[in-house]
Amino acid sequence: MTTPRSIGEPPTAERVLIIGAHPDDPEFFCAGTVARWVTTGTSVHYVIVTSGDKGAPGDWDTHEFSAEVREAEQLAAARELGVQGVTFLRLPDGEVFDSLALRAQLTAEIRRFRPDIVVTHDPLTRLYRQHPDHRAVGAAALAAAFPASRLATFFPEQRAAGLQPHVVRIALLFGSDRPDTFVDIAPVFERKLAALRCHTSQLGAFPGGMETRVRTRAREAGASVGLELAEAFLWVDLE
Ligand SMILES: [Zn+2]
Repeated sequence: MTTPRSIGEPPTAERVLIIGAHPDDPEFFCAGTVARWVTTGTSVHYVIVTSGDKGAPGDWDTHEFSAEVREAEQLAAARELGVQGVTFLRLPDGEVFDSLALRAQLTAEIRRFRPDIVVTHDPLTRLYRQHPDHRAVGAAALAAAFPASRLATFFPEQRAAGLQPHVVRIALLFGSDRPDTFVDIAPVFERKLAALRCHTSQLGAFPGGMETRVRTRAREAGASVGLELAEAFLWVDLE
């Protein structure tokens, strides 16, 4: 196992930007950590790259309807956690690539929100049973966080829109096969469940029930470092 770098509290930050591929990714991977940040006065904002329009039950016949439902669910979950706001980029679900266009969009979001920490998918995880959008979003978000957002020479047209270069201190990657940062979510576990329950259309996707699956994951994440319930990340210094 990778030597643990941080166990217990989330790293301190004034502003945190969570970049997820689909509605419910932030809640599934890091709602407990978000709840802990919000409790201590950290401002948290979400960027959701697709609106999850392929994640619909079979009896829904239009993508638009599904995207609308999933955005509403995501907004409700964010409200439940005290997240400041949610930005939807509305790329087509399942068709995301680490493109220059996506890097530019994410760089603009970073320059707009100016986070100390960016939290996103680990693009290089060897957990191979992985949604391809997760890998693509993680790669584009990391490219935006370093070095694009800090260098005025990247996407210089953004200056005309009033966006200045910005240095992100840390990236925390979820879904990693070699996490080194473990946040104790036992005090806020019920809030994580409450936020996940806002994603009503997705609750059928958890064999054995959402709560059992999420509790098992949190137990497994904490087991190696003596925490009852945890969320795990790989810490990447960007400064
Ligand atoms: Zn996802």
